[in-house]
Amino acid sequence: MAAQSETFSDMPLRFSIPSRHARGRLVRLDETLGEILAAHAYPPLIEKTLAEALVLTALLGASLKEPGSQLTLQTQTEKGAIRLLACDYKDGALRGYAQFDDATVAALPPDSTLFGIFGQGYLAITFDRMLPASEGGGRYQGIVPLEGASLAEAAEHYFVQSEQIPTLIRVAVDHVRGRCIAGGFLVQHLPEGEEGRERLHVRLDHPEWDHVEALASTTSKDELADPALPLEEMVWRLFHEEEAVLIEQGDGLSKGCRCDPAHIRDVIAKFPAEDRAEMADEAGDIVVDCEFCSRRFPVSLASFNN
Ligand SMILES: [Zn+2]
Repeated sequence: MAAQSETFSDMPLRFSIPSRHARGRLVRLDETLGEILAAHAYPPLIEKTLAEALVLTALLGASLKEPGSQLTLQTQTEKGAIRLLACDYKDGALRGYAQFDDATVAALPPDSTLFGIFGQGYLAITFDRMLPASEGGGRYQGIVPLEGASLAEAAEHYFVQSEQIPTLIRVAVDHVRGRCIAGGFLVQHLPEGEEGRERLHVRLDHPEWDHVEALASTTSKDELADPALPLEEMVWRLFHEEEAVLIEQGDGLSKGCRCDPAHIRDVIAKFPAEDRAEMADEAGDIVVDCEFCSRRFPVSLASFNN
């Protein structure tokens, strides 16, 4: 294993173990996470849950190599402390936000379960791949219940149920020197190659996978969230006895929002003039907030002709 440089944070590391038909990814979010969270003032439990969702989004998104492809992770819940959680990844740009109910969150214990946070709900994972349809391009969405101990566990179910790929995912969120750090690790067994979603005969107890899963299970939360530990070293610690492990750095991650003043104006323009007048504030502006980045976009009522 030789890398050009060591990978610490805000860049995914992909690896594969050819002799075991396994592949995986590691990612640790540091500055990028701080920038995304800084746009909001979330209670600690919401911040932790959103950080978990963002690192999962980065882990899943890091499988998309073709420009313009997008991965979206969104929860759908009826009640619960978090009403909506939405994250997406596109070309290395990561964004996400959570809508929550203050009173319900305040009443939750700090070690709340997934059910406590979301209530009854679903996790939707959507891949939009910029590839020809024959190569797995287009939109593919899988929806799984928000069940298990964590969002990572719900995402594991997604891979087993929707894609029939044995998958292990670990996510850790910690505060290191006042910064929120989130680390994630995903490993999968792909005995028939990467392409194609129709797998009829899945073995979750394949000896190759049993072996990889046993090693991967020893990943600790401390390692994942330690900003001083190179991701290459984590791969080495886990798999140094394997015949060969190939590693490759992914695209650097950054906070990215695609909010667009022109688009916001177009949306407002579709409302009747009297509705627009009602939406405007005393200064004569209609102010729209981007839910992802909290930027405010004032659009002057006078700038519309009718
Ligand atoms: Zn925005």
